[in-house]
Amino acid sequence: TFALEIRDLKKTYSTGKVALKGLDLTVDEGDFYALLGPNGAGKSTTIGIVTSLVNKTSGTVKVFGYDIDKDLVKAKQQIGLVPQEFNFNPFETVQQIVVNQAGYYGVPRKEAIKRSEKYLKQSNLWDKRNEKAGMLSGGMKRRLMIARALMHEPRLLILDEPTAGVDIELRREMWDFLRELNANGTTIILTTHYLEEAEMLCRNIGIIQNGQLIENTSMKSLLSKL
Ligand code: ADP
Ligand code: ADP
Repeated sequence: TFALEIRDLKKTYSTGKVALKGLDLTVDEGDFYALLGPNGAGKSTTIGIVTSLVNKTSGTVKVFGYDIDKDLVKAKQQIGLVPQEFNFNPFETVQQIVVNQAGYYGVPRKEAIKRSEKYLKQSNLWDKRNEKAGMLSGGMKRRLMIARALMHEPRLLILDEPTAGVDIELRREMWDFLRELNANGTTIILTTHYLEEAEMLCRNIGIIQNGQLIENTSMKSLLSKL
């Protein structure tokens, strides 16, 4: 089974805008995959559908074999999503945010607290656990978003433009962190419009343009063609 298997995915928004025109995409388990494409290509729409935030018009999506039409709860449990925008409550503490997230996925509170120590330490945020999230630096906020996404121990982590607007030093730190996660077995998919970011991190790459996948290849063979 694939970590992600998308077949003939179509999306027309209620405005009439056709965002996806029959997208086919597979990502292997354990992969570090970049979905690259210009603004408006359909990356966020694709991620939105996979994470069931956006309704598809037609097509099939399976996450580790679980069809989002038939096994939505199971499919969702496999995925950790790191959206582009910070969307946590800035007045909650770092630890509250990650513990509550686990609660939404049915993780018992005691276990959630245990996990919060693991993932906050891994994200270098354990010392900040009692601080209000709004007080953190930009880099810490990004790491908090990732720690939160890991609390239900998803097998697939999806990051939407993870380093948009992040300075180069911070970007490097995030890259290292993501590489380590992937090395420990988490499949990672990120969207980006920086080829450089895909090049630095990813094993395989899909290029989306105008609602279709126009390239699906290894990073290595793509670079040898440029
Ligand atoms: P869905 O079909 O998934 O329910 P909608 O088509 O209802 O989504 O769109 C949600 C809202 O976002 C609509 O009010 C739509 O007008 C608005 N919208 C229009 N264009 C864009 C855009 N480029 N990016 C984000 N939202 C947009
Ligand atoms: P990307 O993430 O690659 O920038 P998107 O998936 O956000 O692309 O957008 C694909 C196309 O769909 C764009 O033309 C965008 O304006 C349009 N779009 C995105 N969201 C909505 C929406 N909610 N309603 C209408 N059109 C939308």
